[in-house]
Amino acid sequence: MTIHPLEFLVFFLGVSATTGRPFSPPLSYRTTTRLHPLKTERSEILEGRCHKCKKWVPVESIKDCAVKVKELFWWKHAATCHQGSQVPGDDDFYEQDDISCCLEELGL
Ligand SMILES: [Zn+2]
Repeated sequence: MTIHPLEFLVFFLGVSATTGRPFSPPLSYRTTTRLHPLKTERSEILEGRCHKCKKWVPVESIKDCAVKVKELFWWKHAATCHQGSQVPGDDDFYEQDDISCCLEELGL
């Protein structure tokens, strides 16, 4: 499978392809109890509040397995929803060290 460098950035580093900047994180988090989860699914799921669409977005897989990059689900939402929109004052850029660390964790 080949992956476009921009997709790589979006999905693995959480950097918006529109702005080249990291996505704004959720405004807040909550844990929701899922009704009737399957055996392999979580009974609770962590959700994050989106500053753009004001929705609660699941930030982890409903499958009960470890995800290496937890923010992946948030970034997927942010990539389609935020469109370059940032929380005002959110100017934190990733440090080079953070990215190296992330790549290491992904085994790249
Ligand atoms: Zn949104």
